[in-house]
Amino acid sequence: MLILGFESSCDETGVALYDPARGLLAHALHSQVAMHRDYGGVVPELASRDHIRRTVPLLRKVLEESGHSLDEVGAIAYTQGPGLAGALLVGAAFAEALATSLGVPTVPVHHLEGHLLSPLLSARPPRFPFVALLVSGGHTQLMRVAGVGDYELLGETLDDAAGEAFDKTAKLLGLGYPGGPALAALAERGTAGAVKLPRPMLNSGDLMFSFSGLKTAVLTQVRERSLSEQERADVARGFQDAIVEVLVKKSLQAVKDCGLKQLVVAGGVGANRELRRQLDARAARRGIAVYYPELEFCTDNGAMIALAGALRLAAGAVPKTAGGFAVRPRWPLAEISG
Ligand code: ATP
Ligand code: MG
Ligand code: FE
Repeated sequence: MLILGFESSCDETGVALYDPARGLLAHALHSQVAMHRDYGGVVPELASRDHIRRTVPLLRKVLEESGHSLDEVGAIAYTQGPGLAGALLVGAAFAEALATSLGVPTVPVHHLEGHLLSPLLSARPPRFPFVALLVSGGHTQLMRVAGVGDYELLGETLDDAAGEAFDKTAKLLGLGYPGGPALAALAERGTAGAVKLPRPMLNSGDLMFSFSGLKTAVLTQVRERSLSEQERADVARGFQDAIVEVLVKKSLQAVKDCGLKQLVVAGGVGANRELRRQLDARAARRGIAVYYPELEFCTDNGAMIALAGALRLAAGAVPKTAGGFAVRPRWPLAEISG
């Protein structure tokens, strides 16, 4: 039985076809980044309209690439939340309508569960239990993952998410949208230690984070005078080093506290090269294995939603049959953890 997955919570339309026996068969993605760039951020109404335009062509592409047809689909997973209400509604309405027409059930999926489980799509997947660092545009959380649907929140950010801090700081440095990857690229040219920024909550003794002060520290730097290209790179480097140091220290602390040996990194900031370098080096010294999703599965995608749906079904979740449906723009992950 094949599982079709749809992701439309924000500015990426993702479709994927997953076979519980053979793994991912095909997936396709359209990112709206270029469309939103002129506005410096995601415009919800434009996002919804674009999901409408993209879904059917992406579905056709996935079917064609996989060599399978819709009659082989046994269930349809889709992102029910959290995310932008209008964007979620497009994916949910499409998935529910398609499921009704095919006479198959649906599996509404929590977007963050998709991110959390995405490293299981790798050729060398982690095994339960593990600690997960979820670092995305909207979230920064450390979680103990004991199995599918068994998540314990260990710590999270009190204010900005790590990706949000990257994006906002990039804006301050005039790097455009979305700033995370651009800031990381600029930081590669910066000199370590040239600009020393605070490490918020590094020694707080718990697993909580706070990143909004870091952005303010950068604002102070750029406000004082106009920076040369090298100085901008040094500020970017200082910012990235600060955020990476805090993420690395607390993640390894969480793994130790839980008495585990595996750390999974999920979400868009997990693509950051410096974060990977530091984590790999320091984890290796402690005998901890670090797992990352493939780069294409770090940010939003349909494959992680199809996978989460398949794993939920395999774990005995009762799929939803025809009837009404709702999206959940705000939806704490704790509500699906048992
Ligand atoms: P959420 O899943 O919490 O709703 P999201 O889906 O918007 O948020 P993702 O798609 O997982 O988040 O990740 C996007 C974020 O990752 C953006 O903030 C982006 O700037 C950041 N990001 C992507 N690549 C990098 C990188 N190389 N370095 C730092 N940040 C990055
Ligand atoms: Mg996105
Ligand atoms: Fe996401």
